[in-house]
Amino acid sequence: MTGNLAPWPLLDLDVAKIRAGGIKPTPLQQFILKVHSRCNLSCSYCYVYEMADQGWRGLPKRMSRATADATVERIAEHAGKHGLASLEVILHGGEPLLAGAEWLTELVKSLHTHVPTRVNVSLQTNGTLLDRPMLQALKRLGIRVGVSLDGDAAATGRHRRYVNGRNSFDDVAEGLSLLDSPEFREIYSGILCAIDVHNDPLATYEALLTFNPPALDLLLPHANWSCPPPGSGYAHWLISVFERWYSAPEQQTWIRLFAELIQLVLGQPGAVEGLGLLPSTLVVVETDGSIKQLDSLSSTYPGAADTGLHVGTDTFDAALDHPTTVARQIGVNALSPQCERCSVMEICGGGLYPHRYRSGEGFRNPSVYCDDLMRLIRHVSDRVLSDVAQLSTARFPR
Ligand code: SF4
Repeated sequence: MTGNLAPWPLLDLDVAKIRAGGIKPTPLQQFILKVHSRCNLSCSYCYVYEMADQGWRGLPKRMSRATADATVERIAEHAGKHGLASLEVILHGGEPLLAGAEWLTELVKSLHTHVPTRVNVSLQTNGTLLDRPMLQALKRLGIRVGVSLDGDAAATGRHRRYVNGRNSFDDVAEGLSLLDSPEFREIYSGILCAIDVHNDPLATYEALLTFNPPALDLLLPHANWSCPPPGSGYAHWLISVFERWYSAPEQQTWIRLFAELIQLVLGQPGAVEGLGLLPSTLVVVETDGSIKQLDSLSSTYPGAADTGLHVGTDTFDAALDHPTTVARQIGVNALSPQCERCSVMEICGGGLYPHRYRSGEGFRNPSVYCDDLMRLIRHVSDRVLSDVAQLSTARFPR
C-alpha cells in the first residue's frame, strides 16, 4: 500500500468490531449509474477528468447493454431482499445524455419492469444537449432533470468550457429555457452550482434565479487537506446567499443546503450526504460495471472510490461491509476527536467525506472546510432560533 492511500478506514477501521457492537449496515437506496464515461465539455474543476483519479481513461465510453442488465438485476435483488419501499436511480457521467435517448429508454423501461419497488429516476446533465426531442424522451420516461451551471455567462465561462475553450453558457441557457417551459417544467428538478468565490455570490444567485429553478444545489469545490480549496471566504459567500434567500418576502427557490441546515438546527434528521450524521445510502456503478463509492472520492487519490466489486459477480450487499461504506454509515463513530468535541457536530457531521482526506492518514479528520462550516452553521442557527423565539413570544405572550 503506498503513502497516499487511506490507512483510515482501509487499514484501521475494524468492521467486525463495529458489527459486533450492534451497528448494522443500512441498505443502499441511491444508485448513481455512470451510463457514459465521456463528456462533451472540459470543465477545469471536474473531479472525473481533472483531479487525482484518471481511471476514466480505461473505461468503456457507454455502459454495454449486458452491464446495464446486470446492474438492473442487482438493484432489483437489493430492493427485494431489503423490502425497500422506493429507491433513487441517478443517471450520471461523464455526460449521461451522450448515451442517447434510445439507450436511456431501454434502461429506464428495464428498471421499471424488473425492480419490485418504486424507482424514481433522475439525471444530472451539463445541459448542452437538452433539445426538444431529448426532453420529449425524458418526459415520456418520467426522468427528472438537473442541470449544472455556475451563474451568469462570466461565472460559467471560468470553468465550464468546451475542449476548444468556448464558453458553454449560451447552449446551457437555451436548454434551461426549454426545460423551464410549460411543456417540460414538470421534469425540471433544479440547478447544481459549484461555488467559485471569485464570482460575486448575489450576482451568481440572481443569475441562477433567472432560470426559475425549483431547487438549487450549492456545492463546495472538492478539496482536502492535501489539496486545499481554491481561494477562501466560503462562509462569507454562502452567508450572503443565505441572507438574500432567507429574507426574501417569498421563497423563490428551494436551496437544499440551507433547507437542510434549518431542518438540522431545529433538531430534525438531515437527508443529504455531507451534513448531519445519518448513514449514507449512495453507491455508484461505473460504465464497466464496477461498483464504486461516492464518486467525488476520485478527487482524493487514484482508486479511492474502488471497492473491487462488480455487478457481474457481486451483490450490492457485498459493498455494505467495505470499510469505506462502513465509514460513511457509522455517523459519529467515523469522526475525528476534534469533530466529536465540536459544538455543532450533530449538524455538521464532519462535512462531506472526501473533504476530510489527508494523505498518509486518510479520512478521520475534520473537513478541510471546518472553519467555513462552523461559521455558516452558527449564522443559520442564530438566525433561525432567534426567529423561532420571536414567533413563540408573539403567539404565546407571557
Ligand atoms: S465544524 Fe469542523 S470540527 Fe465541527 S463537526 Fe464540522 S468539521 Fe468537525
